[in-house]
Amino acid sequence: AAETTDEQITAAERWGAHNYAPLPVVLAEGEGSWVTDVEGRRYLDLLAAYSALNFGHRHPRLVDAARRQLDRLTLTSRAFHAEGLGEFCRDLAELCGLDSVLPMNTGAEGVETAIKIARRWGYEQKGIASDRAVIVACDGNFHGRTTTIVSFSTDGEARRGFGPFTPGFEVVPYGDADALDEALASPDVAGFLFEPVQGEAGVVTPPDGFLRRAREACDRHGVLLIADEIQSGLGRAGYTFACEHEGVQPDVYILGKALGGGIMPLSAVVATAEVMAPITPGSHGSTFGGNPLAVAVGREVLAMLRSGEPQARSAKLGPRFVEGLRALDAPDVVGVRGRGLWAGVDLAPGTPPGKERCRRLLSEGVLAKDTHERTLRFAPPLTIDEEDLDLALERIGRALA
Ligand code: PLP
Repeated sequence: AAETTDEQITAAERWGAHNYAPLPVVLAEGEGSWVTDVEGRRYLDLLAAYSALNFGHRHPRLVDAARRQLDRLTLTSRAFHAEGLGEFCRDLAELCGLDSVLPMNTGAEGVETAIKIARRWGYEQKGIASDRAVIVACDGNFHGRTTTIVSFSTDGEARRGFGPFTPGFEVVPYGDADALDEALASPDVAGFLFEPVQGEAGVVTPPDGFLRRAREACDRHGVLLIADEIQSGLGRAGYTFACEHEGVQPDVYILGKALGGGIMPLSAVVATAEVMAPITPGSHGSTFGGNPLAVAVGREVLAMLRSGEPQARSAKLGPRFVEGLRALDAPDVVGVRGRGLWAGVDLAPGTPPGKERCRRLLSEGVLAKDTHERTLRFAPPLTIDEEDLDLALERIGRALA
């Protein structure tokens, strides 16, 4: 059986592009917070597909919704109306406190869509001169992998060899409200695109008050506040949206990952009616965006979020998890950050790197992923139970001892 793993990895390495460097485990099955590899070994999944699996693997309500829809209709294209799309848009808009939804598939597509919406709003509503619109983003951002999005990435490897880049972006230090206020003062700025918690950067939280000050600066300068909550939203941070941590209502939400319940790719841009108004037939679209199968799962996701239960679990289990991490006897850990059931653990310079720790975690039966070499990021499914979370802490403790 030992060959099974090796054979699968050898084939993937031989025939697949090397744009990832996965840990040496080949997963075959998943249920809730647990996955099983091709050799029958079980692991606790503390990455949860970068928060796309907030409700765990194959949540019965979500699988059921998908199954029921599979027997009815899966794809129509947007050339026709499809049953359920209107209700999905209504439910999502209401959850966001906004008016209008544009569904896409992946997170990067959602971000691209939001950029287009903000630019058109900038020309038609704000009166920015043609082709001059600027979107302000943050240092350390992660918004996806398209050529336009990597144009304002500050990660060298995400950009290397991929130019020429798209103009019209400016970057300010994350969490620096004064620098932001100054950048937004230019009349060409249409939007401020930010993550309320920077997930890929290592679960980096901005200084207290930054979200509120960003909202105020956007109001002062007539700029759209565009929150990329693809990773931070839908319960992860202990709220429906991480922006709620400071009671901030953005003009535009970008959602993805968990919106599709870990079953279908489903992203969306949600905005006020005024901001969405310049989007007209022919200006934007997607063959699969808002397809009936994804929407059926998405509607069930929204029903689960309306109960408030995933958010409450995240808010309750998060502090227990973060305190547990802080209490570990782990001499190489120099910092633990968290928001909701989401934690970043920083490792001391000169000690074994994150990748090696993740291999140790793997051998202890825990799946996790390092980011930026010296940070471990943990994002268990929000459905995880207390015993499994304690078991996870025990195993992390052994791996980091
Ligand atoms: N925005 C944020 C905040 C993300 O975390 C991610 C993915 O990690 C994306 C955008 C891109 O999403 P996708 O990989 O679905 O294109």
